[in-house]
Amino acid sequence: MKQIKRIKGTQDILPPISQKWQYIEKTLRKVMRCYGYNEIRTPMFEMTELFARGIGQLTDIVSKEMYTFQDRSKKSLTLRPECTAPVIRAYLENNLGEARPVQKLYYISAMFRQENPQAGRLRQFHQFGVECIGPQAPEADTETILLGLDIYQELGLKNFSVKINSVGDVESRVAYKSQLKKFLKPQLNDLCQTCRERYESNPMRILDCKNESCNEILASAPRILDALSENARSHFEKVLSLLDQNGVEYEIDHRLVRGLDYYTFTAYEFIGGGLGAQNALGGGGRYDLLAQEIGSKKPVPSVGFAAGIERLIMAMDKENLFPEMRKNVDVFIATFGGKSQEAGFKLAHELRKNDISVLTELMGRSLKAQMREANRSGARFALILGEDELRNGRAALKDLQKSEQQEVVLGKLATEILKSRQM
Ligand code: AMP
Repeated sequence: MKQIKRIKGTQDILPPISQKWQYIEKTLRKVMRCYGYNEIRTPMFEMTELFARGIGQLTDIVSKEMYTFQDRSKKSLTLRPECTAPVIRAYLENNLGEARPVQKLYYISAMFRQENPQAGRLRQFHQFGVECIGPQAPEADTETILLGLDIYQELGLKNFSVKINSVGDVESRVAYKSQLKKFLKPQLNDLCQTCRERYESNPMRILDCKNESCNEILASAPRILDALSENARSHFEKVLSLLDQNGVEYEIDHRLVRGLDYYTFTAYEFIGGGLGAQNALGGGGRYDLLAQEIGSKKPVPSVGFAAGIERLIMAMDKENLFPEMRKNVDVFIATFGGKSQEAGFKLAHELRKNDISVLTELMGRSLKAQMREANRSGARFALILGEDELRNGRAALKDLQKSEQQEVVLGKLATEILKSRQM
């Protein structure tokens, strides 16, 4: 029979690589705590409508990348391609705004998008993200940027940068869209097919285009910062001044936009220097009007970002930032079968209650094969337990790292092993 393989664009995260994930997750949680964020876990699938409305029909994600299916009752469901809409849905559904006017929520979750798999672009990938829900103040925007940077810095990443822009408020965007369309109109035929299509439906997304010939045209396009309303301008200036005061270097990128109407004010990206084509580590911004899009009666000001974990691991590998992975096993108990095996099994059980990691022989192999296994497992010690040892209550504890051996009283084994951890 044909062997079943994993789905294209998914990954098995195997040991010891899974330890890299644990290391990152531990650091994320530590920094999140410092900023007063609490973890939220939403379902892996939601009503399709949530994403259609919460991300926007016009986006690539909704128009061609979602894993959408019908359940038996013919409801259209979708595996989450991102987590902002689910978090806001959960916030509204659970009245979290009533409990506290400022909700700071973070997630570390798998996302699903049917994209063309390549390095740094998967179909199941993982994001960590934050949503600061409630405050309208620019301080909240800057705080999310500082949080993201603190995470990268805490992980030791050097080669990364921040790009920032403002997409203004509704008023600014109405003004800007008409300026942009006026500028593009005479050159419409020189734009790529996608951009031509976007000209009417969503002209701001044209700024996102990576096509060479569009790039040339867009280089001299009007800038949204010049079209900002008074309110949007002062918001942006405050965000930048707080970044300056806190020693953050950033680049203003006039073409960084979120094309949809419920994105407001700040937009930013974290860029990984050594990542090649897929160099966006994360992206975020303010989305004050999203909650209404998914059913809230009033606007719920919010700002946040989402960042990829696979790309972060690639960036960290490039800079060699993972500490040496800890070998988990403290001791391998080798026995000679029969009584000694039962005694070894019991000893292992007792040691494990003392927070000691123990392997015992589960394949009934020879002592030589067991010692080979002990070395392969990376165990610090091997204990050889035979009938003599059981009778005397003493056994040889081999330090596999130092190639030394000492005799220990079996009753004091736990103490000896724990002592060695401090050395
Ligand atoms: P987005 O939700 O598209 O703004 O993406 C935020 C971040 O998630 C990106 O900057 C990437 O780091 C990561 N990301 C998005 N899509 C993928 C993907 N298909 N595979 C791996 N990482 C991704």
